[in-house]
Parts: sequence; C-alpha cells; structure tokens
Amino acid sequence: MNNPINNDNNWVVLKFGGTSVAKAEHWQTIAEIVAARINEGFRPLVVHSALSGVSNALSALVAKATEATTGNEAFDVDVDGDVEALKQQHLTLASELGLDGAKLLQPFFDELSVLLADIRSSGSAAPVVEARVLALGELMSTTLGANWLQSHDLFADKTPIHWQDARQLLKSVNQPKKSARSQVLSAVCAHEFEQELSDQLSTLHGVVLTQGFIARSENGDDVLLGRGGSDTSAAYFAAKIGAQKLEIWTDVAGVFSADPRLVRGAKLLKELRYDEMQELSSMGASILHPRAIPPVRKSSIPTFIRSTLQPQVEGTRVADDVAFGAPQVKAISIQRGTVLVSLESFGMWHEVGFLADVFAIFRDLGLSVDLISTSEANVTLTLDANINALNEGALTQLRQGLEKICRVKIINSTAVVSLVGAKIRALLYEIGPALEVFEEYPIYMVSQSASDLNLSFVVDESQAEQLVKKLHANLVSQNQNAIFGPTFEALQQMNVEAHPQQVKPAPQKWWVEKRSELLKMASEEQSVYVYDTSVIDAALARLKSLSNVDRIFYAMKSNNHAEVLSHVYDAGLGFECVSPNEVDAIFKLFPNISTERVLFTPNFAPRVEYEQALARNIQVTVDNVFPLKNWPEVFAGKEILLRVDPGMRKGHHRHVRTGGKLAKFGIPLEDVNEAIALATASGAEVVGIHSHVGSGILDAENWSRIGHVILEAVDSLPNLKYLNLGGGLGVVENPNDQPLDIIALDETLAEIKAARPEMEIWLEPGRYVVAEAGVLLGRVTPIKSTDEIRYVCITTGMNSLLRHELSDSY
Ligand code: ASP
Ligand code: MG
Repeated sequence: MNNPINNDNNWVVLKFGGTSVAKAEHWQTIAEIVAARINEGFRPLVVHSALSGVSNALSALVAKATEATTGNEAFDVDVDGDVEALKQQHLTLASELGLDGAKLLQPFFDELSVLLADIRSSGSAAPVVEARVLALGELMSTTLGANWLQSHDLFADKTPIHWQDARQLLKSVNQPKKSARSQVLSAVCAHEFEQELSDQLSTLHGVVLTQGFIARSENGDDVLLGRGGSDTSAAYFAAKIGAQKLEIWTDVAGVFSADPRLVRGAKLLKELRYDEMQELSSMGASILHPRAIPPVRKSSIPTFIRSTLQPQVEGTRVADDVAFGAPQVKAISIQRGTVLVSLESFGMWHEVGFLADVFAIFRDLGLSVDLISTSEANVTLTLDANINALNEGALTQLRQGLEKICRVKIINSTAVVSLVGAKIRALLYEIGPALEVFEEYPIYMVSQSASDLNLSFVVDESQAEQLVKKLHANLVSQNQNAIFGPTFEALQQMNVEAHPQQVKPAPQKWWVEKRSELLKMASEEQSVYVYDTSVIDAALARLKSLSNVDRIFYAMKSNNHAEVLSHVYDAGLGFECVSPNEVDAIFKLFPNISTERVLFTPNFAPRVEYEQALARNIQVTVDNVFPLKNWPEVFAGKEILLRVDPGMRKGHHRHVRTGGKLAKFGIPLEDVNEAIALATASGAEVVGIHSHVGSGILDAENWSRIGHVILEAVDSLPNLKYLNLGGGLGVVENPNDQPLDIIALDETLAEIKAARPEMEIWLEPGRYVVAEAGVLLGRVTPIKSTDEIRYVCITTGMNSLLRHELSDSY
C-alpha cells in the first residue's frame, strides 16, 4: 500500500509498554521485533514507556516531597529510601542488560535530586515541576533501551539507533478551556501530518527511539500527555509522520471480548473497527488509551495490539476496512467507580433551559458527564470517577448546586457494563436471559448510543462482574464468528506449551487414571454409580484445613450412601439433615454420635418434626417466624439457631439460589431482631444464626461477606455462640471456571474470627465433598443414525442423572 502523503514513507511506529521494557528478557524480543520490521522494509520509530511502576513511584515521590518540609526528618528518610529504590530498579535492569547504568543515568539521578530538593524547600510542586519529575521515568528507560539495542548484534555496526528527546519533537497545543494543571499534566497535541517533523526524522538513517508520555508546550515547559499517555504519543507520532502502521506492544495478546482476569473464556478479537475500539477503550478496557484512537483513525493508520510475551500471536488489528458484519456483541466491558446522579424535577417537561442549568453546574465544577438518560420528570447521568476528581467535597458541592433546581440523589459505587459491537439494537431479544441476574437488583440506567455500537447498563458495582460473566456466556461464548480468535485460556495454554518447565500439569481426573478399573466394574453391571473414596477423603481434608472454621456439617442430602457417610463420620465432621428420616439414618449408622454433631435444618416443617428433633437434643435451626409465633411452647427452654436470609442470592443457577427477596428460605434480615425477641419470649435461647445463599459458589469471599452482613444486622445478640455460614462451596464443572480457593476462603474469615474469637464459625458443605468423587457408568445400547445426527443411547437416563435437566449443568 502506498501512503497517500508520501510515497517513500515506510515508517512503522512500535510502542512498547512499561511491563515490556522493565525486564531484560523482553528486550531480546523487542530487538527481534525491530529487526523483523527492518527486514520487511519498514523504518521503525520506537516509542516506549517508563519501566512499569516508575511513573507511579515518581508521582508518589512528588507528593511525599511536598510534605517533607525542612525539619521533618522522618519524611526525609522516607523520600530518600524511595529514591534509592527507584535508582536500584534502573541499575539492576542496566546490569542485566550489560550496560553501565551509573554512567548513563547519573544526569537523570542528579536532576531528580535537584527537583525533589526544590519541592521540599518550597513545600509544593507546580505542575511543570511535577511534569519534569515524571518525564525522568521515560528519559531513563529510553536511555537504557537505545544503548542496549545499539549494542545488540542485530544492530551493531549496521543500523544506528537514534535516541531522540520527545520534548523536541512533540508540541502540545493550548487548550484555554482547561485548567492550568491539566494543560500541563494532561496535554494534547495536534495530530495532522507534519512535513517538517517527517523530514527531520527521515534524515536520521536507522532506527529512531524516543519517549512516550512527554512533550513540550508552546511556551517551552515540559508537559505530560496524561497517565498511560505513551499510547497517545505513539499515535501522534504515527499520524504526524504518516506511518504505514502502528503497533502497540503490551503484555496481553490483544483486545479480548471481556477482561480475561474476569472471564477466562474471553476470546481474542482479531479485528475491530476504529469506532468499536474507541467505544471499548473509553468504556474501561484499559488496553489502549482512548486518546490514542482519534489520531490513527483520522489518518486511517492500521493499528495492531500485540503482546511481547507472545510475539507469535497476531493480536488485534484495528482498521477502517473491517466489515461491519452481522449484528453481534464483540466485547463486554466494565467500568468501575462510576457515580450515578439522579435528578428529579416536576416542572421539567417542555421547560426551556433546565438541562442547560444542570450542565452549567457540572461544567463549573469541572466534572464531565459520561452517560445520560432523561424522561419527563427525571434526568439520570453518570460521572466517571477515574477521570473526574471526585472526592467527597466535590460531590457535596455538586449536590448543593443541583439542589437549588431539583431533587437530587447521588449513588456512589456503581459500574457501567457495556456491550460493544455492530448493530447492537438488533440483539436486544438475546440479552433478556442474561438480565435474569437482575431479578432482584436494580439496573439504574440503560443507555444506548445512537451509533448503535454500544448498549450500557449501570448497576451496583458489586453486581457488575456477575453480569459481565453472564452476558459473556450468553452472547459471546457460543458465537463462532471468524472475528473471534483463541480464548485467553487457550493462549495461556500455548504459553504453557512453549515454557512447560514453568507450569505444573493439571492433575489427571481420577476416572481417567482409573479407566481400566472402571471398565471392569462396568462389565459386571448394566449401569452403576462408582465413587472413589480417596477423592472424598481429599475433599474432607481440604475442608478440615480451614483454620478459622470451628465446625463443619456435611449436608447429607448431597449423597447419603452409608459408605460416604462413614468417611465423613471418620473425618470428624457433623451432619446437616433436612428431614427426620435423615436424622434417623445418622443415628442408626452411628448410634454413639454426639448430638452436637447433628444439625436439623428443615424448611417449612410441621410442628411434630421440631418436637421430635428437640426431644432428641440435636441442634435445630428455625427458618421462619411462624413456628415461634404459633407454637412457642415447643421451643421453651431450648437452644435454637435461626436461619436468616442475608438478601444475597448466589449460585450457579437460578434454581439453586436460595437467598433474596423472593426466596422461601430464611427470615429476612430486617425481621431478625424481631424473631429473636419472639424466640426469647417463648423461652428459647437463640445461640446461633444460620444463613445459606445458594450452591455452586466459586467466589471465595462469599462466606465472609455473608458473615459481615449477618453480624451487622444481628445486634441484639452480642454474645452469639454460633455463626453458620451455610454451604454452597462449589466445584468446577465448566473447565473455564477457576476452582474455589479454599485457602483464600479461610483467609477471608480470619477477620471475623479475630473480631469474635469466642464465636464458633460453622460451614455445611455437601456437594463439595462428593461431586468430584462419583461417575455414572452405563453401557451403550442401540445406536440410531439419521442424516444429521448419530444418537448413542445408554442404559441410564434422566432417572439416574436428572440434575443437568434441572439446572443446565455443564
Ligand atoms: N509511564 C506513563 C504512565 O505510567 C505513560 C505510560 O506508561 O503510558 O502513565
Ligand atoms: Mg498503557
């Protein structure tokens, strides 16, 4: 392709991020990438960031130095220690690269000392001084980078590497509407083609290497392009010199259909249009700075996002020749820390100027509005806490201003979940099922862009991740469209194959290991369940390792085979029973079991069941106020637990989530103190609170969260003896899921335990003990083939494996 601006122009701009440049071993990859582009006939302009963490460290130093006014020795020591650590980080990398770091970097170290001394003595840092300090990060890293590349065999003698000071190359433009501070720390540059710059760089033969993030203002001050601004620098350079392409090299293999830390099955997007990329990067996918897109978009410069950790992966290509294609959701992004402002005014309809008055208040406070939706009497909008300086003071001022013209409600900690892709509107009908998560949680706002590229939901921040997972499973996971590349998981696996020594192999499933034994058993039966007791014992051992849990009751409804129960008994656990028959079975099997180890937790049980259980002296959980109100005499003189509903519904499927407003289980939190009073009036003593929110939960924080909610609500029992946090400990079904982290679960309970050492914490897992221990074997019966489908029939059916029908198991 010929560049429209200059036929001889063959620039490629290569940008490397902080994690790429911070490690010596990645520099070898960088050298190979640069050399490969030269071989392909390109002229590389390399732009790179400071070593990862350095900009943060410099910024913290500026803040500390302002406090470290003379005479405050503790601060001085602190600042000096940080400076030393920063120097060491660079010197270590230099020595790993075989460079004389002390010599190369001394001028920058000296400058840092002088600048910090100035800040210390004046007790404040003007924005230009702060910019000069932060610029040092990129100046130091590029000095090492350029010197190392020059010494590399691939370049030595043949190709000069020209280190250039970006402040001499990039001029920022005046933005009179912006504050002086953001003009300096969040400067912008023009991004038209610049003949002069192009000529200037063209005269340098070889590779040009310069800094991201930094530029100079019209009046000669150092300025920064905003945090994360190296992407923007690279895009400016690409546009200004009319590059053939821009490559952004980072530590993830491209843009994914969701944050891979959240959704392991997120898929690599092979191609995106600029407008889609703009939506994604503005909506919180922090892979490419949103300001980097307009420059390349305007000049139609194809932009590639790739990983220095996996240079063989093609990554994501962003360009304007990408077809719109069929309507589909390409990615789901999440933007946290949003503040929602809801304004109510009854006289708004047909009134001229209401919105103008509202927005004037936001403008005067320097707050930028993100999403907005209006109706006759209400205007709802969001502010992005990441770009707005939203401290309590700013919000109070905002509220005061707005209250003069309307009623105001401000909701902190919401998040925006956005679907991005072409013609989203056509997909509304598919989105419905995913929103089922929101049966009980508010969606504060739905907003759809007129461009039909994005549909956003504003929800409580605590619910956002769940929504992303759900939406991804419904709308992306199934989609086999060619724009989707491998999943994050698969790419990780490739990495594993490339560096096998670094990774432990996943343990073989026992039924694979013991295949021949199983086949032998199967040959003796038509169909049979087989349980491996060593798997049960291992699960029991994991549970017993929970140091902050005092008692564990096995929920025997998950499997009541006598041998399973014996293993549980031998491990010293108790039993959670939901029917008198289950209680009978336990006493029959283990006649000497202590009553402390038997817990009866019925739901809507008749009076006689409570009476029998209490007569047996086992622990009894009462799960609603009806028995206490109507049969108080049954409980007189007895110790009971109350089951409360903490109002959180959790679980892998709608049918197994038991908490929440619509649930039949448990006493609503707001009624629990009243229930305690009723119990006390009946002559019973409430010794414990129980709560169980659902099953199949893999989030380790679930149980401590329940604990905190309960302890906060139940204030009439300062001497609570037992806190039963229920079961629901999940096992992995879908291989994309991460197993429940038992150690993390234990750690999250430590705080509760420390605060209430005298109180016992209980858990009642069921499936966690047995789910992975069993297989169902069946024989193949007739095979039936139609033109399209081959049915392999087996000797078992829904009669022996009903669960997947009930709850869409994987
Ligand atoms: N070093 C700068 C920062 O951390 C710029 C960048 O890395 O993109 O914000
Ligand atoms: Mg970045």
